[in-house]
Amino acid sequence: MESYRDLVHRAWTQTKGKIKMTDIPVAKAQLLGRISDFDGGQTAAWLSDLDTRGKAIWRAVRDPHTGHAIHVVSDRSFASPSLRSDLHLGLRLLAWMSTETPVTWYWWDQPWTRHLPANTDPRKEHLNGGWAIPGVPEVHVYRREEAHKVMLHETIHALRLDVPHALVEPVRRQFEDLFGRKLWPHLGEAFTEFYAEWLWCVVPEGTTKASLGTTSKTSKNDRWIHQLQCSEGQAAAVWARIRDATADEDTNVFAYYVLKWVLMQHQNEVLLAPNASVRFWFTWFQELRPRLEAMADKVAWTENTGLAMGMTCLTSDHATAYS
Ligand SMILES: [Zn+2]
Repeated sequence: MESYRDLVHRAWTQTKGKIKMTDIPVAKAQLLGRISDFDGGQTAAWLSDLDTRGKAIWRAVRDPHTGHAIHVVSDRSFASPSLRSDLHLGLRLLAWMSTETPVTWYWWDQPWTRHLPANTDPRKEHLNGGWAIPGVPEVHVYRREEAHKVMLHETIHALRLDVPHALVEPVRRQFEDLFGRKLWPHLGEAFTEFYAEWLWCVVPEGTTKASLGTTSKTSKNDRWIHQLQCSEGQAAAVWARIRDATADEDTNVFAYYVLKWVLMQHQNEVLLAPNASVRFWFTWFQELRPRLEAMADKVAWTENTGLAMGMTCLTSDHATAYS
């Protein structure tokens, strides 16, 4: 797997020093018009409050070489290095993801973290952070937490890099028969999120911190090792919550946290042959289920606590870099 990772990493290094960030007029109408009710009104309320207090910062930047653009509304000053470095990193990630199709990223940069209250089953307001329509080169992210990783996830949808729906449907029905409840219909999100997290871990720690005057000390595999540990802990805690659930899902909780962890245990097959891997997802889950149940038993007590649901288990270092 090292060679595939090296290939992807080389493509990342080729974007170094290539990004030009120019100001363009911000599409305020788009940022105002696309927040109707996808998140229960949270983003609309945040923006309305910010605007009323005259604290909303509206900006847009574009890289003339690639055509990628970011439109952002934030409570952070555009002069602040953190927002500028976040936008620069965004354009660089987009340049990495596509040299063919210019993508526009709409970003509501709000400090609304993912949190699951005690004794509650996870639902969309506890974890979702963005959306995209497959084949439409526009991505939407409505949190600051993990914004770049979410942007990568949505860009996978926008550029049609997902596993095909038709391959996933029979597997989703297998899981629904097993659990006796409906799963949100995009079981392929397990692959999308797996791939987004893997790509995000290829980007070296310290890339964003360069502008903040620190350097990277982590080796190239540290981030992925951390990510494997993070997702294992989350798979256990989320499975402890949902294994006895009877209500239908309202977002892809099982796919994002549990099935993604299953895919991570077969990372080589999934990375090199994502489509061919789909037919094995159900079997892999069944094989790993005893281990998953034992992990969930160990953390069953977490049902009575609040849980951070950010999928990359942000460290304080990350929080410094991105806030
Ligand atoms: Zn998705």
